[in-house]
Amino acid sequence: MRIDCKHVWEHISAYIDGEVDEHLRAEIDSHLETCEICSAVLDSTRNVVILMADERVFKLPAGFSERLHAHIERELEEPSR
Ligand SMILES: [Zn+2]
Repeated sequence: MRIDCKHVWEHISAYIDGEVDEHLRAEIDSHLETCEICSAVLDSTRNVVILMADERVFKLPAGFSERLHAHIERELEEPSR
């Protein structure tokens, strides 16, 4: 049985997240080996996922370091009063 491109696209994000079952994963893997369109869709979907992940990783330390600096400034001011 072969699955078609639309079937792959429906499950592409679950496939990237590892949330598809073994049977469906095998079907998608064998489809991707022979279908350039779906390989390209997978690549660009992965890139979007990676960019979103990077943004989360980037934003968290930025906010954290602002709070940390504010905390350090308060700590530095208080003993001199
Ligand atoms: Zn395809």
